Amino acid sequence: MPVIASVYGQSLTEWQQRFPLLTPILAGEDVSWFNPNIVPVAEAMQDIALTAEDVRQAAARLQRFAPYLAEVFPEVAASGGIIESELVAVPNFAEQLRQRYDVSSEVRLLLKKDSHLPISGSVKARGGIYEVLFHAEQLAIKQGLLTQADDYRRLAQADCRKLFSEHQIAVGSTGNLGMSIGIAAAGLGFNTTVHMSSDARQWKKDKLRAHGVTVIEYAGDYGEAVAEGRRQAEADPRCHFVDDENSTTLFLGYAVAGERIKAQFQQQNVRVDAEHPLYVYLPCGVGGGPGGIAFGLKLAFGDHVHCYFAEPVASPCMLMGMYTGLHEDLAVQDFGLSNKTAADGLAVGRPSGFVGRAMQRMIEGIYTVNDSELFALLRMLDSSEQLQLEPSALAGAPGFARVIQGQACLPGATHLIWATGGGMVPAAEMAQYLNPQR
Ligand SMILES: *Cc1c(COP(=O)(O)O)cnc(C)c1O
Repeated sequence: MPVIASVYGQSLTEWQQRFPLLTPILAGEDVSWFNPNIVPVAEAMQDIALTAEDVRQAAARLQRFAPYLAEVFPEVAASGGIIESELVAVPNFAEQLRQRYDVSSEVRLLLKKDSHLPISGSVKARGGIYEVLFHAEQLAIKQGLLTQADDYRRLAQADCRKLFSEHQIAVGSTGNLGMSIGIAAAGLGFNTTVHMSSDARQWKKDKLRAHGVTVIEYAGDYGEAVAEGRRQAEADPRCHFVDDENSTTLFLGYAVAGERIKAQFQQQNVRVDAEHPLYVYLPCGVGGGPGGIAFGLKLAFGDHVHCYFAEPVASPCMLMGMYTGLHEDLAVQDFGLSNKTAADGLAVGRPSGFVGRAMQRMIEGIYTVNDSELFALLRMLDSSEQLQLEPSALAGAPGFARVIQGQACLPGATHLIWATGGGMVPAAEMAQYLNPQR
């Protein structure tokens, strides 16, 4: 690690004295932070300008689009155009995790397979596709081609597709957001550009190009790809730039997950109440995905749900931003961390300030995981449950052990690993992930 004299006008030693957890964080150790500012959900909701009604409207919009999606994207025809993932039990994985982390008590562990969401194979199919649909709807209504009462299959007709082809959608991405926005926007007929950082996987670029998306590659990291993409989009009034760091639209698309999973718990007879609290572990990059989902979960379950974010040791941007109160004014690189991790979706050095402030009294904590642990967990899930994920998506797996060992956790609890990606990883790439040589 390079020797750093001062950061934002204070010496590193001063930072570490004020915020003791920075010492292990900056040493690259994995840490668990339990948020001292957590308050009851009714109070925490005051930090965020969005409401239950906003989420309800997002859900209604997705419902309006469902017949159209079922027609245009064959992979959601069977679900009637609803993009949703399974909630599954993983008993063998749970047993191995208990041994690995030395947890003696029984745990009820479930896994949410957003890794296998249709259309784009990651959690980004929630927020990303929702924002594309939102934008398409606004454009078509403004042009007099659509009303909210119409059958949205109308949008697949030539006049609507022509309208979309005259407009551009652009996004900056480490991979999965680009996949989600790119495949959805190109599918609707938009002229689509994805600005990709150097760490994005080649197969994701190839796949996007095969869908007719323009992929522009950058030597720098995610922050640079976003900045340049935003700059180019600002020059063009017909271009909509999906702003991962500040978009409330994206956030609301994620939040719909709360009501959806509540229905799944009911179907599976899993109780969530004061005696049966729910603990949820969400991998975090810039924050919109886990933030939006946590918001939706809090609306659905109130104080009976406890949400934790998980980040790589090299990119703990949300943890450092919330812990120091610096939020988006902080980049982990300024403190000497590398922001280099195999967990591509999570390789983000600067957190969303919007999400950090919205969540600062709502989430129970944030912990970090190192890359070799992510790979070990990836192989363990594969061998115990025959389920394959990408490295980022395993960050939620150690969560229950951190919580049980870090603070009191009620015995009737359900723990939920939010598995965020991996469903579209090509076989050859997956074989490398599973290779124990790593
Ligand atoms: C994007 C992503 C996340 C986190 O979402 P953010 O909105 O960036 O915080 C988690 N896991 C995977 C696989 C992702 O692609």
